[in-house]
Amino acid sequence: MAGVYIAYPFCSQKCTFCNFASGVFSPDSRRRYEEALLNELRARSWTSPPDTLYFGGGTPSLMPRDFLRAVMEAMPSAHLGEATLECAPGTVTPEAAEFWVASGLDRISLGVQSFSIPELRLTGRRHTPEIVAREISVLRSAGILNLNIDLIAGLPGQTVDSWRASLDWIERLSPPHVSVYIFEVDEDSRLGREVVNGGRRYGAATLPGEDLTAELYEIAVDCLASAGLARYEISNFARPGFESRHNLKYWQLEPYFGFGLDAHSFDGLRRWSNPDTLDAYFALPPIEQAAADRAEERFFVGLRLMRGIEPSAAEWSRFAEPIGKWLDAGMLERDGSLLRLSRHGVLLSNEIFQDFIHA
Ligand code: SF4
Repeated sequence: MAGVYIAYPFCSQKCTFCNFASGVFSPDSRRRYEEALLNELRARSWTSPPDTLYFGGGTPSLMPRDFLRAVMEAMPSAHLGEATLECAPGTVTPEAAEFWVASGLDRISLGVQSFSIPELRLTGRRHTPEIVAREISVLRSAGILNLNIDLIAGLPGQTVDSWRASLDWIERLSPPHVSVYIFEVDEDSRLGREVVNGGRRYGAATLPGEDLTAELYEIAVDCLASAGLARYEISNFARPGFESRHNLKYWQLEPYFGFGLDAHSFDGLRRWSNPDTLDAYFALPPIEQAAADRAEERFFVGLRLMRGIEPSAAEWSRFAEPIGKWLDAGMLERDGSLLRLSRHGVLLSNEIFQDFIHA
C-alpha cells in the first residue's frame, strides 16, 4: 500500500538553518495554496487506499481546522496504520491535540532541534525545554503516545556538554522515537550561506567542525541506545515497534504520493516532484524525473537502513567494484547474504552511496 505526504509550507518564522521549501507567506497565498492542494488531492485516482499519512512542512500544526478536515475527507476511506503531524513546539494546546486525535492523527513529530536555549535562539526558535515537556504531556493526555523528537547535531555554539544536556532531556521525556539530523552547510539556508561566505551572523563562526559534529552524532547513537532507542536508519532511532511506518516506505522503495509544494512521489517505477516555489506550484505541472533504476536505488536508499539490504546475485556482480572497495575500507559489512553500513560507514554514507550511482 502507498503512503501519502501532504506538504504544508507555512511557518511563523524562517529558522536560520532551514533549507526546506517553507517560510512566512501572506494569508492570501495560504488560502490559495490550500485550495490548490485540495484540488491536487481530489484529482488523484487511487488503485488502492493509502495506509500511512504524513503532514510535513513547514509547520502543519498551524493548519486551520477546516483545511485538515477537508484533507482527511479527500483521502480515500481506509484504515490508516499511521498518521503523523509535524509540530513546532509552542503550537500544541489541549484543544488542538484533541482535535488532531478526533481527526485520525495518531503520531506527532516535534521539531525541537535542541534543548539548549542559546542554540535555539541562534536558530530563531522561541521555545524552551519546559514548553516541550509541557506539550508532550498534553499530547500524552490526549492519547498520542507515538511521539518523535527531532534534534540537530552540529548547530552553532553546540558543544559536547550542551549536546549531552539535550540528550538528557530526551531521556527524561522518553519519546519512543528520535531523529538526529546533521546540520548540512549549503547555500539554501541563511546559516549555510553565512558559513559559505565566511560571515558571523546566526552564530556561523561558532559552528562545530566536522570532527566535533561526527563526535556529537556518535554520542547520540550511544546515549539513545542506552535509553532503549535503537538506530534503525542513519538518522532515526526507535523503541521496538515505533519505527516510522511512513518513512520506512521511502527506504524500502514502496510507493508514496506527495501533494503540495516540493512534494515528491514514487509509484514503484517512476518518480516525480512538484515545483518548489509557490508561484510555480500554482502554475506548473509536476516535474517528471529520470526513470528509477531500482538496483541503484536499493543501494543508495536501502543501505540507509541499519539492517542493510540483501542484494541479488546480479546486483553483487554489477556492483562488485564499489562493494569490494568499501568492504576493504571497513565501511561496509557483509553478514551472509546481507550487506550493511558499518558504524564508521554511517558517517561516510553520502560518499559511499555516490559510488553506486551509474556504477
Ligand atoms: S525548520 Fe521547520 S519551522 Fe523552521 S522554517 Fe523550516 S520548516 Fe519552518
